[in-house]
Amino acid sequence: TGTLHVVATPIGHLGDLSPRARETLAGVDAICAEDTRHTRQLLAHFGIERPLVALHQHNESAQSAQLVARLQAGESLALVSDAGTPLISDPGFRLVRAAREADIRVSPVPGACAAIAAMSVAGIASDRFTFEGFLPAKTGARRERLARLASESRTLVFYEAAHRIQETLDDCAAAFGGERHAALGRELTKLFETVLDGPLDRLRDRVAADPNQRRGEFVLIVEGAGDDADARIIEGRRLYAKLAEHLP
Ligand code: SAM
Repeated sequence: TGTLHVVATPIGHLGDLSPRARETLAGVDAICAEDTRHTRQLLAHFGIERPLVALHQHNESAQSAQLVARLQAGESLALVSDAGTPLISDPGFRLVRAAREADIRVSPVPGACAAIAAMSVAGIASDRFTFEGFLPAKTGARRERLARLASESRTLVFYEAAHRIQETLDDCAAAFGGERHAALGRELTKLFETVLDGPLDRLRDRVAADPNQRRGEFVLIVEGAGDDADARIIEGRRLYAKLAEHLP
């Protein structure tokens, strides 16, 4: 049987595609990609030409059986996403699960991951963290999720898109308290890379004051709740938020 190589690609700077990732991508029979046009561009930059198979949220379950059959027939495949590490807020877990269930070797070619890159420069304790990925898009669900996280003592890691970053900072400051320390990594490894840090209320105000700080892709890192008296205040806020949902 073949091997499924799970290959991380850059989150911005193309120099971050590792030599082993290049070799692997150039050597497989086909590459499963979230967006084939996007991946074709990346491959073209490195002079790699391989057949591409679209594997995204909507066809992953259906495609997985066929791809496993190809692996069983001895083909080797690579799995990539548009940016960073596949399966991390990206498609791929169904294919990986199906391959593992079929006893196919699944091997990582590690590389860029926005969450890890952001944590490496945030200056916030990350010996224990909880990766929350994207918050719910709807206001009520997002606030409820944040309220539940308010007493979490581990560092919190969120992904966010440009059009929601301000709301998310507002909601985080409200749920966790404006004094809670946080860091915001924007456009990491790209031309306009910035990392801001400070209390949530200050971060919120800095982003509100400068439209440039709302452009691009973001990772928000929030320090965990202290295990002091704050916990009770936070619990109070959570209950209040819960109550407020039922108020007109
Ligand atoms: N699989 C990817 C990874 O390993 O990081 C994440 C994919 S997820 C669909 C895309 C989100 O990751 C963006 O909305 C943003 O929150 C974050 N992200 C990706 N690239 C980034 C970058 N260069 N700087 C900051 N955040 C980034």
